[in-house]
Amino acid sequence: MPTIKIDEKEVTVDAGLTLIQAAATAGIDIPHFCYHPGLPIDGNCRMCLVEMEIRPGVFGLVAGCVQTVTKDGMQIRTNTPTVLKNREGVMEFFLINHPLDCPWCDQAGECRLQDYSFEHGRADSRFVETKRVPPKKDLGPHILLYSTRCILCTRCIRFCDEIAGTSELGIVHMGSHSEIDTFPGQPLDNKLSGNVADICPVGALVTKDFLYKPRIWHYTTVRTICTGCSTGCNTMMEVMHQKIYRIRPRENMEVNQYWMCDDGRFGYHALQEAERVKVPMKRVNGTLQATTWKEALQAVSDGFSRLIGETGQSAVGVVGSAQWTNEENFLLSKLAREAFKTSHIGLYVKPPGEGWVSKSGFRIEADKTPNARGAREMLGAADMRGIVDGINAGTIKGLYIVGGDLGLVLSAAEKEALGKLECLVVQDIVHSELVDLAHVVLAGASWAEKDGTMTNVNGRVQRLRRAFPPPGEARTDGEIIRQVGKQCGVDLGPGAPAEIMNEIARTVEGYAGLSYSVIGEQGAMTGIGQPSEAAGG
Ligand code: SF4
Ligand code: SF4
Repeated sequence: MPTIKIDEKEVTVDAGLTLIQAAATAGIDIPHFCYHPGLPIDGNCRMCLVEMEIRPGVFGLVAGCVQTVTKDGMQIRTNTPTVLKNREGVMEFFLINHPLDCPWCDQAGECRLQDYSFEHGRADSRFVETKRVPPKKDLGPHILLYSTRCILCTRCIRFCDEIAGTSELGIVHMGSHSEIDTFPGQPLDNKLSGNVADICPVGALVTKDFLYKPRIWHYTTVRTICTGCSTGCNTMMEVMHQKIYRIRPRENMEVNQYWMCDDGRFGYHALQEAERVKVPMKRVNGTLQATTWKEALQAVSDGFSRLIGETGQSAVGVVGSAQWTNEENFLLSKLAREAFKTSHIGLYVKPPGEGWVSKSGFRIEADKTPNARGAREMLGAADMRGIVDGINAGTIKGLYIVGGDLGLVLSAAEKEALGKLECLVVQDIVHSELVDLAHVVLAGASWAEKDGTMTNVNGRVQRLRRAFPPPGEARTDGEIIRQVGKQCGVDLGPGAPAEIMNEIARTVEGYAGLSYSVIGEQGAMTGIGQPSEAAGG
């Protein structure tokens, strides 16, 4: 690995890194617009020019995004008068036609042009001619282009060409009349289109979803994961007053690189618009009626105790959820074994949707649940066929089934079987056909309202983080399970998700060695340790 000098700091880095990347390892930021680590290099904006020693004692300007580290002893200077003068010139050029609409631009507060203008720009403008005003364009179902703000960095074009592989965007006209546009009859309409708004370094490309919204500094950012499919893209969720305003991808090279799909990005509306179950309910004279938690928990315990007393412990079954965290499914399996003393454990399996792979290999999985793998591993069950058979055979008379899925659909056979039960307890978040069949309904929490982990399709265990509490009287699902256990006279152990994960690491095959500190921000693979090495953390 070559050792090079950047602004008098010596750094040893991999050969082949760009100067922007090499400088970053030394904590030095080389400003740039067109460079993006996930896109092919273009070198068009000239903002990243730095001085490099070309011959002994002679320095010349090179582009920090194009020039790579090639050998020992390279000398780079990022803050000489020549470099600073270049940046000032580049900034002046970019701002010639740029409108002064920062106060209502949705990029304000996270705009490279705004930041660099402050750091590297001139205090005044020498441009006295009329600014050109190219039109605002509706590029596709999700994206608007404010052409006046565009600096023609071509990030969006390269994204569509090389990542989505759909090539909808190009530059039309020439010289100072150049504009980004779609090709005739081909709108910007691909499964990853929202990413162009993220990577546009200015406020030119914006999503219709995040338009004229409160300024970005008012939000709390929650670092979590998408639950739209079993890929488990890493995300940042911006929330305020118990409402989600925007979801953007968070870098994880092992999972989603820098991207996420549009379904995952905009899917939060379905949750916010759903008719939520906000109170526990009990069936009285054939009708579900709101009740207190005390009465609902008593009804669960009474219903199941009666069945177990009459017909034995195999009378009760439990069905987990691929929408639930590992910790919740683990607690549910403990509830089944320790409180209900049953081995009838199943998992609701959602019918698969459509899978898709982009040109760059980004995958949208056909499994539209986030934690089917983790749920199977926590529950030791693959589906609910055994439960349906047990009900039809008259063995299982009571069932504790959990939902958490906005699009839950029961097959005719499942619906018919559930209709035969003497006691059906449903723990769910929305009014569904499952809730319609229930004798007792326990109001649970959605993916935005709970902490825990989920295991993606490849076995990576990742953190899901709570943004706000569940609505109304609804409670987090782990808390409900522990209360049901208590009502049945069984203490299910620690309730904090981190502590439950420590117990999972001690007892579930493949999870040895995992803890919240090991999982961290980027997740950790199952199968990293041996059971004897399992440790808390
Ligand atoms: S719209 Fe944005 S990403 Fe596309 S070229 Fe213009 S500034 Fe770059
Ligand atoms: S690929 Fe799956 S996990 Fe990723 S953003 Fe889309 S729906 Fe969410």
